[in-house]
Amino acid sequence: MSHVLDLFVFVDALGWEICEWAEAFPGLDVTRRPLETQFGYSSACLPTILSGASASEHGHWNMFYRPAERPTFRRLRWLRHLPGDLRVPNRLAGPVNRLIKRSAGLSGYFALHQLPLQRLAEFDVCEREDIFAPDAFPQTGSILADVRDAQLAAHVSDWRAPEAARWDALSAALAGPRRLDWAFLYLAELDGLLHRHGWPHASPRARIAADARRLQALVRRAEGLGYEVRLALFSDHGMANCRQTVDLRRQLAPLPCREGRDYVAFLDSTMARYWSEDERVLASLRAELERTPGVLVLEPQTLEAWGAYFPGGEYGDLIALVEPGTLLVPSDMGRRAIAGMHGYAPDHPDSWAALLSNYEVEPEVTRLADLRQLMSAPLRACAAA
Ligand SMILES: [Zn+2]
Repeated sequence: MSHVLDLFVFVDALGWEICEWAEAFPGLDVTRRPLETQFGYSSACLPTILSGASASEHGHWNMFYRPAERPTFRRLRWLRHLPGDLRVPNRLAGPVNRLIKRSAGLSGYFALHQLPLQRLAEFDVCEREDIFAPDAFPQTGSILADVRDAQLAAHVSDWRAPEAARWDALSAALAGPRRLDWAFLYLAELDGLLHRHGWPHASPRARIAADARRLQALVRRAEGLGYEVRLALFSDHGMANCRQTVDLRRQLAPLPCREGRDYVAFLDSTMARYWSEDERVLASLRAELERTPGVLVLEPQTLEAWGAYFPGGEYGDLIALVEPGTLLVPSDMGRRAIAGMHGYAPDHPDSWAALLSNYEVEPEVTRLADLRQLMSAPLRACAAA
């Protein structure tokens, strides 16, 4: 008798529109549907997939934030005395990121990007611990804790390993001493190609086709080993092509209030976030942002509807978002324009994620937050047996 393996494949940035354009994974044709994403970047979307909760509930939104207590980089506060804005050049990013991670005791994903070292201790990071650790989300729980508690034979990709090694590790686990019940394959390289080239472009299309062939070969191998593979593949968000840039720091420069003295700012690629204790400062920043074409100040009710409202202001007292296809350049994430970006309004089609599977998925699964329920179906079946 065959042994059922529930295989979940995560493909970073395989948006619904990209899926349609590239005719991605044609073998997965029983369920093919768009999924509503979580507003934010992968630092918010992946926790939503794993925890089944919104960012407001699991607490992870944009990577850098400003909670009242900011212990992580306290030992690096001395850096603020260095002159100028010291940004780490790309060729040194790997070793510097590792050094900071070690000194701050971080076990999650961390990248400084283009944040000047002088400003690092103004912030903390939401991903201090590995989000794939089963107990990473104490408020909401995680599918990985559910799987552990159900004592399923499970395999979860190591996100730190190179992508080729993740395929190999799953392939090896299929033939391991205990038959696998549940597996999660993590694929993230498509995201980088789409940032670099946008779409339509031959390079991301070739990558999707290569992944589809590799997945087909993996399923055939599993079937040869006596498995019946129930396969669901999903993403976290889509990708918009970038057509224009806005330099918000320059735009705000004529105002009488000054960054560093009157307010703290963090510029993500598509969002600008400001903190100040002075309401007049926030009001003057807001007025200038509202005058800027392509920039939308996000009101609490919008953030709440998008699952990213933090009443304590830890992710920003004032938050602005740019239109799809616009990029903040320079920002604290990058100094130059790139071809593709995500992190726009979640209801825009460029933002939609995708769900494909070789079996019928319940119609209620329509959002990223529903994927925990999808991934826990084999656990419920197990408990019922
Ligand atoms: Zn990305």
